[in-house]
Amino acid sequence: MDHFHYRRGMLHAEGVSLATLGTEVGTPTYVYAEATLRRHWEVVSHAFAGRPTLVCYSVKANSNLALLSRFAEWGAGFDVVSGGELARVERAGGQPRRTVFAGVGKTKRELQQALGSGVLLFNVESAEELELLDQVARAAGVRAPFAIRVNPDVDARTHRSISTGLKTSKFGVPLAEARALYQRSRQLRGLLAKGVDCHIGSQLTRVGPLAQAVRRVAALYRQLAAEGHPLGLLDVGGGLGIRYRSEAPPGPEAWAKVLRAATADIAATLVVEPGRVLVGNAGVLLTRVLYRKPGHARRFVVVDAGMNDLLRPALYGAEHEVVSVRQRRGRRVLLDVVGPVCESTDTLAAGRHLVLPLQGELLAIRTAGAYGMSMASNYNGRPRPAEVLVSGRRWQVVRTRETLRDLWRGESTGR
Ligand SMILES: *Cc1c(COP(=O)(O)O)cnc(C)c1O
Repeated sequence: MDHFHYRRGMLHAEGVSLATLGTEVGTPTYVYAEATLRRHWEVVSHAFAGRPTLVCYSVKANSNLALLSRFAEWGAGFDVVSGGELARVERAGGQPRRTVFAGVGKTKRELQQALGSGVLLFNVESAEELELLDQVARAAGVRAPFAIRVNPDVDARTHRSISTGLKTSKFGVPLAEARALYQRSRQLRGLLAKGVDCHIGSQLTRVGPLAQAVRRVAALYRQLAAEGHPLGLLDVGGGLGIRYRSEAPPGPEAWAKVLRAATADIAATLVVEPGRVLVGNAGVLLTRVLYRKPGHARRFVVVDAGMNDLLRPALYGAEHEVVSVRQRRGRRVLLDVVGPVCESTDTLAAGRHLVLPLQGELLAIRTAGAYGMSMASNYNGRPRPAEVLVSGRRWQVVRTRETLRDLWRGESTGR
């Protein structure tokens, strides 16, 4: 369900024509539909109604301040993986005391920053991190609320690059070691065991592995609670998949049902960390066709967005639908939509059957709201795209396009 539809032959975001945005803002530009964000937020939060739950939007999916401030206003907590993301949450009006801090490599400075802000929970990923967190907290004269991120050793059956819960993964610690760390924490006066955590991967399209993981983590929670650890939070991560092309992931209700069932007998606040499912199909990347070229074996359509703007296809072989902004009829031809970057992996969509677009025509790369702009870079000396938020018939630029001067901000010639 999203709010990108053709009206009078032109693709619109809610009530705003993407052709208008292409002319007024230029390309490449990320365009987000607030109504879609809102709808996903409501579906996900309602799926947990009646069970004490904190829904923490996973900031790395899309960290634009306008999106963060909408989620904060709607009552979201946040899941951050760096001091930079925490600073963004605070800048956007989000509350640190509703924010969980994850990540396998938090620096001392980040631990200090997050303690100073008063985050709800540190999701700790190693014995050494636990010791450092204790030191930092004692130096600050406080106790740090923590959970151990457990690696439950289940195969999330998603793409291997976005699977995080196997024992070969760098994330979390094995169950047995997690128990030992909670024991150890009793001797550390800077720590307070407030929860148990896991997150097994992203773009999950089946709930079986998740159910298995959460049952393991819930069993640990029960043991620890019985041993007298204060706890109170059971963080089961995010990862619910979405439909890019032909996937058929479970909906938020089915996902919530599994999580609720696996944790039904536990009197803890459930923490969930959805990212992609909240923002993924709320965004498109608007791009313009520069050139068409026949090529030897394939026909190429060269557009003005590249892998620096949307990395997912090059990084994981991810597939996004590509559509013409002006609805076109006619014979479809086999083509590759490629970017201008000097890398062969800079193919945004390979082997598609589309009506050959005209030079200068606008295309929309769909389902680009998650892990799109947040992964954008300046590779090949390319300013990053603008971002636009549409609300009904209104729209605003919520991040201006970078300028050439922005490309060397902070640099010097060293002469
Ligand atoms: C990335 C991440 C998430 C969000 O994953 P989605 O697939 O976007 O829902 C949640 N929790 C942690 C710890 C993460 O690293």
